Amino acid sequence: MKVCIESISQYRLEDIKKILARSFEELGVFNALATAHTLLIKPNLLGAHHPDKAITTHPVVLEAVIQLMLDAGKDVWVGDSPGGSTPVKAVWHATGIDDLAQRYPVRVCNFSEGGVEEVITESNHFSLSSYAYQADAIINVAKYKTHSLMLYTGAVKNLYGLVPGLKKADYHRQKPKPEEFAHVISELYGAIHSRVVVNVLDGIWGMEGEGPSAGEPRNFGVLMASSSASALDWVAARMLGFKPSQLSYLQQAMMHDGILPENIEIPMAWKEKKFKKVKIRRIGFFIKVLAYSPAFVKSIFRRMYDYWPDFNDQCKKCGICVKSCPVGAMTLTPGMKHPRIDHDKCIKCMCCHEVCPYQAVYIKKTFLAKFLVK
Ligand code: SF4
Ligand code: SF4
Repeated sequence: MKVCIESISQYRLEDIKKILARSFEELGVFNALATAHTLLIKPNLLGAHHPDKAITTHPVVLEAVIQLMLDAGKDVWVGDSPGGSTPVKAVWHATGIDDLAQRYPVRVCNFSEGGVEEVITESNHFSLSSYAYQADAIINVAKYKTHSLMLYTGAVKNLYGLVPGLKKADYHRQKPKPEEFAHVISELYGAIHSRVVVNVLDGIWGMEGEGPSAGEPRNFGVLMASSSASALDWVAARMLGFKPSQLSYLQQAMMHDGILPENIEIPMAWKEKKFKKVKIRRIGFFIKVLAYSPAFVKSIFRRMYDYWPDFNDQCKKCGICVKSCPVGAMTLTPGMKHPRIDHDKCIKCMCCHEVCPYQAVYIKKTFLAKFLVK
């Protein structure tokens, strides 16, 4: 399984288009799409964030994919259903989708409308956007980021966005432990991966630290592509310094693809590449350690090592996080400076942290957690 990687440090349309054309040719994407008429491009549009924040797929990368597919004579759809209750029109506007839709003959699909296909897997029942099944194939265009809960987020996790809007929070409620949620992501991947013809990872500017939305942008300067999202993520995560054993959802996704790490073909110049000093928040790892500890160890460790969502003074009291909380643990009433969290109800899914458009939710930690979590 081949992973194409090229260096590029700026969002220059012509350069990106040339790189992607080369990669698609090498991966046989145009041949694979010979009989496809309609294509669904699935970017990461997590919320109403400006592209400079490096939270969402940059519109210039999308523009390059759109141009390549229009040049190939395809009907192009672009769609997502942002997390939380952010108004979708605000998301289309802030992320540059409106602008693309004005300049190109593309259909913009809101996955929260247009119906769902019910998909039953071994241990889950998914409602996935019908657009993913109406289009002849999917082009997955993800963003390169670290993730507070899952450690890393790229191409495999971007496909979780095929679950419409607030339904995403249901899975957090049903599977609150990171290892359970990892299984949800990998099973969903197993259900949809055969419809995905190519995966692109926008790592020109990515995010490190408290991703997926409250970290710091970083100029990784890479654009990657592969027919397999799991192979692509395996290489991309390794370049951030992760070991595959830390990312159980990725290991499971690779099993769905039938890929072994030693069978992934990487350009020679990138084989040993690792970005220096990437900031990572390793919450998920410590939850995992706790999951296998006896009860008394858990209770002592929890008191010493704990973390929870808290608010800074950027809060605009918009209420988006409150509506997005899967267990109704948040309240916001007039006069409050920011929402209040019922910590007995909170399952620490960090959806509030993920959806806040103003980066007003940060992760507060005890002294030990601060010491351990770099
Ligand atoms: S923390 Fe404040 S600004 Fe952020 S989503 Fe919640 S209410 Fe809105
Ligand atoms: S308060 Fe935040 S972290 Fe806690 S359950 Fe609600 S959304 Fe998840």
